[in-house]
Amino acid sequence: MDIFDEVKDSIDQFHQELSELDVEERAIEDFRIKYLGKNGIISNYFNKFGQIPNDKKKEFGKLMNSFKNEANQAIESLHQKLNEKQTKQEFFDYTLPGVKPVEGSIHPLSKTMDDIASIFQDMGFSTELGPEIETDYYNFQALNFPENHPARDAQDTFFVDDKVVLRTHTSPIQVRTMEKQKPPIRILAPGRTFRNEAIDASHYCTFHQIEGLYIDEDVTFSELKTTLYLFVKKYFGEDVALRFRPSFFPFTEPSAEVDISCFKCGGIGDDCSLCKGSGWLEILGCGMVDPNVFKSSGIDPEKYTGYAFGMGIERIAMLKYGIDDIRLLYGSDKRFLQQFKQL
Ligand SMILES: [Zn+2]
Repeated sequence: MDIFDEVKDSIDQFHQELSELDVEERAIEDFRIKYLGKNGIISNYFNKFGQIPNDKKKEFGKLMNSFKNEANQAIESLHQKLNEKQTKQEFFDYTLPGVKPVEGSIHPLSKTMDDIASIFQDMGFSTELGPEIETDYYNFQALNFPENHPARDAQDTFFVDDKVVLRTHTSPIQVRTMEKQKPPIRILAPGRTFRNEAIDASHYCTFHQIEGLYIDEDVTFSELKTTLYLFVKKYFGEDVALRFRPSFFPFTEPSAEVDISCFKCGGIGDDCSLCKGSGWLEILGCGMVDPNVFKSSGIDPEKYTGYAFGMGIERIAMLKYGIDDIRLLYGSDKRFLQQFKQL
């Protein structure tokens, strides 16, 4: 191969490497040394100048000079590019507005739970918690659900085994509290509960409840009514009316369900989407503690009376904030949750 072809190959190689070179200080310097260094490719060719036949010396000199010039220019322009790149990286505009950190917010269920609890706490209720995995005894038996009682079927239960369940309500906390405290007892029992239900817009496999329990001598149904009346006025508004409908729960006798007048249509009904035209919204269940519940917890039903009430947090949150699908509360969709930031 003649030396002219060798040089031309080197020039091709040079172009190839130049096109693939990283604009980084180290890479540019290595590239410079390889071609323009003292023992670099270009110097080596110049050293062979003496071996070139005289009639070819001029042509060779021209070729080598243009190679060297091109290499010098390439290195210079690489340094320029590197410089621009570094300036860009270091440039910091202090007048630019800052990037706002993503801010979380309280989940609407937590907010609802906290708001409800704080109203009852102002009335002297303290908070008790209990396990989410319960024994059949605390979840059913001690609450006057005897074995094979049909009321057990009404609560679609997740069974861990024959004697252990995921609690279907927060009422076991009431039993546990009655076992360890002497009256007067005035507690709130908030927490997560579980039911094996088909999931749709108004049912989910888990939900939250908050229950209240007050036991002392001479506690009456009218005290229960007053307590709930105060709660409803404070939480839903002064203009909201209440009504008590007789109902049945195994652990209270007598029992009632409480409706409030629809705060969307003012109780008129008509085409109201919230109350479905009835003018009323069911919000909670309540009643006087059944003497059988007292007996199983070691409290004398001849001496003490008490009331209990309980409500579903999801239902209250959905009513209060106009949420039409319970699944939204568990979807962790930031677009949904961000709407509650201002609460
Ligand atoms: Zn309505």
